Amino acid sequence: MANVAALPILLKELHLGAMARQWEVLQDEALANHWTLAHYLTVLCENEVAHRHTQRLQRYRQESHLPAAKTLSQFDFGACPQANSTQLAQLAHNADWVERADNLLLFGPSGVGKTHLAAAIGHGLIEQGQRVYFTPTTQLVQQLQVAKRELKLPEALARLDKYEALILDDIAYVKKTEMETSALFELIAHRYESGSLIITSNQPFSEWDSIFSDNMMTVAAIDRLVHHAQIIEIQGESYRKMQSLRRKKQG
Ligand code: ADP
Ligand code: MG
Repeated sequence: MANVAALPILLKELHLGAMARQWEVLQDEALANHWTLAHYLTVLCENEVAHRHTQRLQRYRQESHLPAAKTLSQFDFGACPQANSTQLAQLAHNADWVERADNLLLFGPSGVGKTHLAAAIGHGLIEQGQRVYFTPTTQLVQQLQVAKRELKLPEALARLDKYEALILDDIAYVKKTEMETSALFELIAHRYESGSLIITSNQPFSEWDSIFSDNMMTVAAIDRLVHHAQIIEIQGESYRKMQSLRRKKQG
């Protein structure tokens, strides 16, 4: 004879949290509606799976460091006619390119929405079950530089492997010192054909000599980045500037 009183403990031991919370309420529903035992069990399992899915997405969102409000629905495409909404929605809602470890490069002057769009794509990818990490490039490069100094760069790079997409915001802000740029180069080489990079830059490739220590490294980095990549250029006025002009007009 099974000890039904032990069920809550058994469910807890099996880490079936949603089931532990719901089995009694659903049992009443099952009896009231004459569900078969298999029907009852299926509903319990479905709820457990749905609960885990929600929790996983929550965890992915938290670890991503993505700015929460920067989503595609918050992006005003009317204010940015340069941006191809279909292409951007496709990038956010279909993760095939991330599964292929392709890259995405967003270019354009300051304030046109590059960071917002990169983050919005990141949010979309998380919804598709991908793990994403958003970071100002300088911050990550500094961390990698410390790791390199401690001879732990391979481990630091490997720790990033769990993220299918790594968003490097403002790559052109990286200062040109030998150690920093070689850590950045090693990151790019490490991710090549194994994990996606989403990069924003207010400097075109022709100016990237100021990021990497020598011309050969610049060429080698760009070569790896663009081999499997989509490149989006956004021109136009700074959104911040347009908004402050509009406020002045209204005021
Ligand atoms: P960039 O990274 O190109 O310098 P940001 O993405 O940081 O620009 O955009 C600057 C600010 O303006 C952010 O707060 C961003 O959310 C907002 N913004 C830019 N473009 C748009 C847009 N088309 N619709 C809504 N908000 C926008
Ligand atoms: Mg930005």
